[in-house]
Amino acid sequence: MSVLVLVEPGEELSLQAVSLARDLGGPVHALSVGDPGAELGAYGVETVHVAADDRLSAYAPAAWAACLEQLVDRIGPSAVVAAGTNRGNEVLGHLAARRDVPFAANCIGVADDGSVTRVRWGGSLLEEARINSDLKIISVAPHMVEATTVNGGGAQVEPLEAAIDEADLLVRVVEHAETPSAGISLAEAKIVVSGGRGVGSADGFGMIEELAGLLNAAVGCSRVVTMAGWRPHTDQVGQTGTKVAPDLYIACGISGATQHIAGCKGAKKILAINSDAEAPILASADYAVIGDLTEIVPAITAELRKARF
Ligand SMILES: Cc1cc2nc3c(=O)[nH]c(=O)nc-3n(C[C@H](O)[C@H](O)[C@H](O)COP(=O)(O)OP(=O)(O)OC[C@H]3O[C@@H](n4cnc5c(N)ncnc54)[C@H](O)[C@@H]3O)c2cc1C
Repeated sequence: MSVLVLVEPGEELSLQAVSLARDLGGPVHALSVGDPGAELGAYGVETVHVAADDRLSAYAPAAWAACLEQLVDRIGPSAVVAAGTNRGNEVLGHLAARRDVPFAANCIGVADDGSVTRVRWGGSLLEEARINSDLKIISVAPHMVEATTVNGGGAQVEPLEAAIDEADLLVRVVEHAETPSAGISLAEAKIVVSGGRGVGSADGFGMIEELAGLLNAAVGCSRVVTMAGWRPHTDQVGQTGTKVAPDLYIACGISGATQHIAGCKGAKKILAINSDAEAPILASADYAVIGDLTEIVPAITAELRKARF
């Protein structure tokens, strides 16, 4: 039997989803709303079904799920897979509700008997789960599965003329508003400078922004910071925020709660700056500077300026 993957155009995490989907066996089909933005054949996709409908291209979760459902009826796959992004999880949630079948989110592996390994509780435990359904609906935990290529030819591209019900278009993106800090995407930045309660105030983020600017980095923060209104929710890293995987994650005044670590454990290196030598983040950090961040961060910034100018 085949496998169907939802590919979000330009979304690197979708390639990780395709790689896991190959482990389910059978030919891999993909649905992309618009140009997928990647040569999916190199990742083992045999057929890409492209839905080119202007009403869908800016995102409409129920309508995307309707497209998937029409392909499920046509192809009869054993599983539908998507990246565990906000959109991937939302569309699969719609699909599961439409088919009245279970949905296993945040999977990182599939066994030969079809059971899955899922990341639960913000990454603090792994669960082995059996999905009691002929159609398995699976999202792939971000940055936990490597996107690998295979020796395959190009994927066959087939246009999908999906029949879309107006009711499925009630929720859709109609406009994109850029945030003031939208220069470097938090999810894709190579370096993230993140601040927690220890930064002390919204104004305190001035020094975090200055350091981030010098490093060409994105600014992140903990949930305490967004709850206090010091930074927008779009900057939040963690279980209920963005999951990041930079080369370097600099955590300033962040204690390292499991819900925060769930969002930054994909980083190659973590540097913690914290006044508490017993802070939990030190267990996850590769490097640490113990001290007052209001002295340490400006000192790093000053050294960087000296080195550059
Ligand atoms: C369901 C659920 C989901 C959640 N999702 C998220 C999430 O997505 N992201 C997230 O971040 N949290 C999340 N949380 C909240 C999480 O549990 C923590 O409360 C939060 O991460 C703590 O934020 P913090 O580290 O900034 O603050 P604190 O835990 O208060 O830590 C502040 C740290 O700053 C240090 N510090 C203080 N002053 C200084 C100074 N001058 N110099 C240096 N260090 C200093 C302290 O030693 C301390 O380690 C979630 C919680 C729940 C229940």
